Amino acid sequence: MRGSSLIPWTEVHSWACRACGNCCLGYRVPLKMDEMVKVNAVYGPSVLEYGMGKAYLKNQSNGRCVFQKPLMDRWICTLQGTKPTACRLFPFRIHNKPVYKRGDNASINFNGKKYYLYMDPDCRGIISGQPSDRFRNHVVPEIIGIGIGFPVKQKYTTSKSIHWRPI
Ligand code: SF4
Ligand code: SF4
Repeated sequence: MRGSSLIPWTEVHSWACRACGNCCLGYRVPLKMDEMVKVNAVYGPSVLEYGMGKAYLKNQSNGRCVFQKPLMDRWICTLQGTKPTACRLFPFRIHNKPVYKRGDNASINFNGKKYYLYMDPDCRGIISGQPSDRFRNHVVPEIIGIGIGFPVKQKYTTSKSIHWRPI
């Protein structure tokens, strides 16, 4: 997140990735150990950097992720299919505790456990309001499943599931 407050999921009507590429600019993408090993094996150490005991994807000199490339009038991720979990989750943030004092508006029960789900306001695909049925019943459960490591086939939370609009 680059500064603004996270949005509790119950204040989001809907979300659809517009493939604007904004989330691959100016972020540091953390990698899990297995993700780091895979990326290193395929692309070598030059795409990685380290800090605070973690591995991250490097950014290019323009601030964009090393794997983001222009394709005609859009940006694409050249790691498609093997995206790090942090990228698959964006713009969602899953926490075990509420980020703000009152967590009711961010809480969600999934598989017998309570989580707190927020969205990064820097994403351009968020529409505020009462959660739609699709958002509540498909998008939210899918993203929680991905976040906690269920073998979920990403269907409702990827730009591939929507008509892409250039902006
Ligand atoms: S997740 Fe949001 S910021 Fe990232 S490409 Fe999609 S619309 Fe843009
Ligand atoms: S790995 Fe792909 S989705 Fe993740 S920041 Fe880099 S270009 Fe963006």
